[in-house]
Amino acid sequence: MEIKELKDLIVNELEAHHNQLSELSLKIHSNPELGFQEVKATDWLTGYLEENGFSLERGICKLPTAFKASYGKGRPLIAILAEYDALPNLGHACGHNIIATCAVGAGVASKLAVDKFGGSILVIGTPAEELYGGKIIMADRGAFNDLDIAMIVHPGTRDTATTEALACQTLDIEFFGKAAHAAAGPEQGINALEAMLQSFTAINSLRQHIKSTARIHGIITDGGEAANIVPAHSAGNFIVRAMDIDYLDELKEKVLNCFIGAATATGAQLKYKWDEVCYAPMRNNLTLARLFAENMESLGRSVSLADTEQAFASTDMGNVSQLIPSIHAFVAIADEEVQVHSPEFASAAISGRGIKGMLDATKALAMTVVDLIASPEILSRVKEEFNSPLKNSVFQRESKPGKEE
Ligand SMILES: [Zn+2]
Ligand SMILES: [Zn+2]
Repeated sequence: MEIKELKDLIVNELEAHHNQLSELSLKIHSNPELGFQEVKATDWLTGYLEENGFSLERGICKLPTAFKASYGKGRPLIAILAEYDALPNLGHACGHNIIATCAVGAGVASKLAVDKFGGSILVIGTPAEELYGGKIIMADRGAFNDLDIAMIVHPGTRDTATTEALACQTLDIEFFGKAAHAAAGPEQGINALEAMLQSFTAINSLRQHIKSTARIHGIITDGGEAANIVPAHSAGNFIVRAMDIDYLDELKEKVLNCFIGAATATGAQLKYKWDEVCYAPMRNNLTLARLFAENMESLGRSVSLADTEQAFASTDMGNVSQLIPSIHAFVAIADEEVQVHSPEFASAAISGRGIKGMLDATKALAMTVVDLIASPEILSRVKEEFNSPLKNSVFQRESKPGKEE
């Protein structure tokens, strides 16, 4: 059987399962569950995979809502990753119901390729993308070490085969001062809120002199108790993001110095804690991205390799992409004005366009599995790119020589 025929067969099979997949997606959407609480979604997804002949390992990496489903034997081990967590108050406003359904749909459809050419297809359930960076925990616990390839498709507002995602780490800050009557004895007090405000001012100054792709942002979570008491305690939460880990480390030190300076100036005591979870930047495998784009285009969609207009954020898929050749593609389900993490995007995730996008992405993922399993050359090109010392990226914004103006 030709590769083309196998792909056609897969497309037809997915058309035949259209209703089943849409129902699964709608069911997850109407039962939104937060990170690490995705019990129903996990049951439905693993149930679907089991019914379709996959062997299941539930609760992998000591995470009750993580799972690994596999079909086939031996290498290559191609994994499609599923996310299924929702957002507080907004439900599935990131459309993870689509990601999950694409993963199980493409996994099941890929069985045809495995039966024909060998190898293994895996669907890995990765919980808590939004709130806790589930894949980072899973990566630390070895979930992806043995794999050859990992792929995921996220809904968005453009069809793009790659993702630009920044390295990122969260910082918790507390200042401890001394309470006093703000009018009767201000000279007795040490103002922990002023320390926090000075830190913001210092960070605002720093922001003028950082690379344009880096980001520093924060909030105050405790600013004192009453206007007539000198605040004895203040607290805040900050996020530092950068294009690569080296620059992130450099920036983290500079940001921390802003707090140390404010502590010195005010006499407040500083306590800080960097989050253990550090998001790595996305390393896009362009060979893999091109394959996925070609398969999407064969379905009549127009896909760009990179979206230079794309907003910067961070994803735990970045950490997976540092370990094995990976893609994190986007499929358009809404107009460009629609913001991800908005009620409008939540509606798009169950719209006709959302379902069509989901089905196309599912087909393209399964077709890409065919390419990888049927052709050892393609697979080795993907790996060669991953192993090349050039840390490829389609995004060259940082390395462009600065214009003199
Ligand atoms: Zn999100
Ligand atoms: Zn998301």
